[in-house]
Amino acid sequence: MTSELGRLIARRIALAGPIAVSDFMAETLGHPRLGYYRKALPLGQAGDFTTAPEISQMFGELLGAWLAERWQAMGRPSPCLLVELGPGRGALLADALRATRAVPGFHSALQIHLVEINEALRDLQRAALPGFAPIWHERFDDVPIGPILLIANEFFDALPVRQFQRTPGGWAERMVGLTDDGEMLRFALAPGPSPFGALLPQAAEPGASAELSPAATGLATAIGARLAENGGWALLIDYGRDTSGLGLSLQAVRSHRGVDVLDRPGETDLSAHVDFEAVAAAAAIAGARILGPVGQGDFLRRLGIQWRAETLKARATPSQALAIDAALDRLIAPDQMGTLFRVLALGDRASTLPVGFSDPPPDTP
Ligand code: SAH
Repeated sequence: MTSELGRLIARRIALAGPIAVSDFMAETLGHPRLGYYRKALPLGQAGDFTTAPEISQMFGELLGAWLAERWQAMGRPSPCLLVELGPGRGALLADALRATRAVPGFHSALQIHLVEINEALRDLQRAALPGFAPIWHERFDDVPIGPILLIANEFFDALPVRQFQRTPGGWAERMVGLTDDGEMLRFALAPGPSPFGALLPQAAEPGASAELSPAATGLATAIGARLAENGGWALLIDYGRDTSGLGLSLQAVRSHRGVDVLDRPGETDLSAHVDFEAVAAAAAIAGARILGPVGQGDFLRRLGIQWRAETLKARATPSQALAIDAALDRLIAPDQMGTLFRVLALGDRASTLPVGFSDPPPDTP
């Protein structure tokens, strides 16, 4: 038994033929009525996954300090657009803004622009940011022109990927088609080589597989061009890899458990590892300066997360102190989010360089 969206996709395939994995992913996540990110509350403890700003207030607080420092490095522009892509429940910005209240002139310069397709999450974001009057957009391209500070945490991993398999005749695209009885979705290879094959390693052995995300590189180009032209900085944080390579990473999660990618479309979260080499290259070609990617653990330690944890613990009960240490460990430990999650900064060429990318981490308290 598939989902309502699964039946819609199957009907479309029956009428018009197999679709690219990227089209399947875009429908699954973004279908106007039945898409996973259109429906109520995908994330949080009760949802399908938990993100860094939901783990601890320290994450948003430190990113807030980084943004305020970048605003100063940009020459304190006013207005300055503070853009978040996919703000979820709004915790990151709420923590970032609370932590930067005392920075003279910062808040009065900010215009908050949120790129979000989920109506229920927009309501939570409004409630999390009282007094800031955010403006919502469906797409980054709709954000007005101006100096920008941008944050995207676990956003690029939701952008559609295309998948390919090497055959003796070249790279063929992996498609979503139907089983012989026409009832179920299944993967199948497109006949003949794909023009995208020109972008993939030519020396790969037959049977090798690879992914490309034109949506991710297209967005990186758009952001990079804005930063180069109007000034600004962006932080992209996601799980992913530093260099493009072979292999498939698209995965499906429902209720904190891995499930089959084709299982019940619209009811499972699909995400793929971000190819940071491709994203950085696209932004660089558009004119942006690139820093990183570095591990989330190194980045947060350079921003002083261990000192922040000590400060919070000084005012905490013993059980709260244990929770702070546990959250710190989840965010920075190499076997938790510290290494798999990467932080990439994009910026203009006029400002000084930001902290977090090559400076040595401060001594551990
Ligand atoms: N940044 C948040 C949420 C990450 S989940 C956090 O770290 O907690 C992904 C977020 O992006 C959600 O808010 C989701 O509704 C939004 N989203 C996903 N795909 C989107 C798209 N194509 N356009 C705009 N928003 C999208």
